[in-house]
Amino acid sequence: MSCNSDLHTGPNSSHLEAAEALAAAQSRYVANNPLSKKQHELAVESLPGGNTRTLLHTSPFPLCMKHGKGTFVWDEDGHKYTDFVGELSAGLYGHSHPVIRTAILSTFDEIGLSLGSTTTYEVRYASLLCQRFQLERVRMTNTGTEANLHALAAARHYTGKKKVVVFNGGYHGACFSFGGGKAAPNTADKGDFVVVQNYGDDEAAAEARRVIEETAREGNLAAVLVEGVQGAGGCLPGSKEFLLAAQEAAKNTGAIFILDEVMTSRLAPNGLGQELGLSPDLVTLGKYLGGGFSFGAFGGRKEIMDSVYDPRVKGSLAHSGTFNNNTMTMCAGFAGLNQVFTEEVCVELNRVGDDLRGRLNGVAKGTRLRFTGRGSLIGLHFRENGTFESLERADLRDLFWFEMLEKGFWITRRGFIAMMLDTPKDELDRFVDVVGRFLERHAGIMMV
Ligand code: PMP
Repeated sequence: MSCNSDLHTGPNSSHLEAAEALAAAQSRYVANNPLSKKQHELAVESLPGGNTRTLLHTSPFPLCMKHGKGTFVWDEDGHKYTDFVGELSAGLYGHSHPVIRTAILSTFDEIGLSLGSTTTYEVRYASLLCQRFQLERVRMTNTGTEANLHALAAARHYTGKKKVVVFNGGYHGACFSFGGGKAAPNTADKGDFVVVQNYGDDEAAAEARRVIEETAREGNLAAVLVEGVQGAGGCLPGSKEFLLAAQEAAKNTGAIFILDEVMTSRLAPNGLGQELGLSPDLVTLGKYLGGGFSFGAFGGRKEIMDSVYDPRVKGSLAHSGTFNNNTMTMCAGFAGLNQVFTEEVCVELNRVGDDLRGRLNGVAKGTRLRFTGRGSLIGLHFRENGTFESLERADLRDLFWFEMLEKGFWITRRGFIAMMLDTPKDELDRFVDVVGRFLERHAGIMMV
């Protein structure tokens, strides 16, 4: 499956009508959000483009959020939104979960922030992560990016090789991005990545096998790194057959198979890999597993983890990080996974997500809009013919974003929804209704 992201700009009436609707929606946005606009003007004085996280930049200026409570956020101009951004999947517990609050306060009052030592808290959390995600060993980091960085270092050290096979549309962190079929300019060790041009389906499985075998024959393949659902790549699930094929080819060639579960570990009780019957050598984790704080982790087979990272082993690698075991993350993350996001709660959240996606695709039938994803992670796509083979319509996606904001739904502009726990059912129902009305209101430009 490959995505064509060109914007169709043909001068037909649907495009002209869309341009008019979009211009009107953008004018209303500017008029409705004077304080966000003012904040952006201040921000550009100290941050390049007013921003310290590129994804959050939206033209003509981003909304500036003031606070959040439960599953809602409020912007500087006082508008209330249902939070469907869900901090790109890290915000699973919402903004004020009582269990997380207790963990934070008791850590601060009774433990202290950074003890500069090993603690029982990291061992307690490591043991829960190992048990939950079927890992023999785990190491903590501060972000998912770092988790992938260290997992790749482990694979390279263990195999003595360097190259890594990845997939078009894959995202493995700030310096590991593979949209448009190639490594982004800021990719770390850019020359070491070989990008399979397809992802997710039978065609991709065949190409993955071929590329993995060819790269291995050249004698320098260390790892295959893949997501079970491409998150940043559009919330596109890979088929079980595709993932098994990539895994088998990796294992047959002696390459380390790394499953990036930074986003997908929340999709099934023991992670998506277990659900699909995969047995990765290494898994990377992150996002919600910090209980709302910055977090990453990587782990898997003990022969790899111990020989590469056990400081008692001669020639092992250093894995440093001042905040790797910070008490706040170790305790909040543990409390969340242990008490809140239990295996039963995980199953139920993803059932609600599947139901919501099904209802949204129901109201979108016959239009250019399609909802993708799995469980509680939902992607939305506008395509010229309503199929993935046809061109993307970024103009319609932008119109959708502006109008959903007006109706009180906070969604990433690129079209990604990460559901939080406990989003009220009537808000989910209202969203389905609002999407249906949006498609009716713009039937002339939305119908295929
Ligand atoms: N891998 C995947 C699949 C991700 O979605 C992300 C973050 N969106 C990362 C890695 C990087 O995580 P972080 O932003 O914590 O560095």
